[in-house]
Amino acid sequence: MKNRQFERALDIIYPRRCAICDEVVPAFTFKNGRINRGEVVHRECLKKIEFVGGNTCFKCGKPLGMDSDEEYCQDCRERRHLFSRGYSVFAYRSISGSIYKFKYMGRQEYARFYGIATRKRLGKTLQSLGIDAIVPVPMYGPKQQKRGYNQAERYARAVSEELSIPIYTDVIKRVRNTLPMKELDALGRRNNLKKAFIIAKNDVKFKCVLIIDDIYTTGSTIDEIAHEFQMAGVKKIYFLTLAIGQTT
Ligand SMILES: [Zn+2]
Ligand SMILES: [Zn+2]
Repeated sequence: MKNRQFERALDIIYPRRCAICDEVVPAFTFKNGRINRGEVVHRECLKKIEFVGGNTCFKCGKPLGMDSDEEYCQDCRERRHLFSRGYSVFAYRSISGSIYKFKYMGRQEYARFYGIATRKRLGKTLQSLGIDAIVPVPMYGPKQQKRGYNQAERYARAVSEELSIPIYTDVIKRVRNTLPMKELDALGRRNNLKKAFIIAKNDVKFKCVLIIDDIYTTGSTIDEIAHEFQMAGVKKIYFLTLAIGQTT
C-alpha cells in the first residue's frame, strides 16, 4: 500500500508520460465529483496500438495471418522449442517506439501500462496456467549496471503485481554477455547463447514457471532458459513477452 501512495506522490512531482506518445498524461481526473488517478496512456493513443489476437501459433503465440489454416508458425513447424507455450501482448510494429524508449531511454514508468495491458488481455489465461513463479530474463550484470535497470525485470514486476504471482529474480543468472541478437543469423544466435544462463539456486521447487522478456524473436533465449529449468525438474515452462512480430 505504501508503494502506491509513494507512486501517487511521485505522479505530482514527476508527471507521468504516456507509454505510447511519450507526452505528459494528467496525474488526476475529476469524475462525478471524485478525484481519480489519471490514465497511464492517452485514450486516443491506445487506439493506435495493435494487440496480438485472432489466429495465433499454438506454440509461440505469433500471429499467423488472416488466411492461414496452420496451427503452428513456420518457425515452430521447423524447430522444436523447449517451452510449453508462449503468449505476447502487443504486435511489435505498433509498439516498437515505446519499447525502444522503455529499454534505452530510461522510461521505466511505461512498465505500469504494460502490466495493466497484460492483465486485461491475458490475465485470465495466465492465471489458469498454475504458474508458481514469474522469472524475468536476466541481463548480464555489468550490462545492467551500465543501463541502470533490466527492462524485462521492470515489466515482469508490473505483471507480478497485476496478477499477484510472485516474481523471482535470483533463480537464473546470465553468466556471460551475449552479442545483440539482431547481428547474428539463426546458428550464430544459438551458439551465442550457449551456456549464457545458469540456475543460481540449486533447489528449484517450482512446478510451473513463466519466463518474461520484452520481445520475442527466434525464441533462442527462452529455449536456453527453459532448458535450464527442465534440467532442474520444472515441468511446465511458459513465456510471456510484451511484443512479438508477425510471422513471415
Ligand atoms: Zn499519448
Ligand atoms: Zn510459432
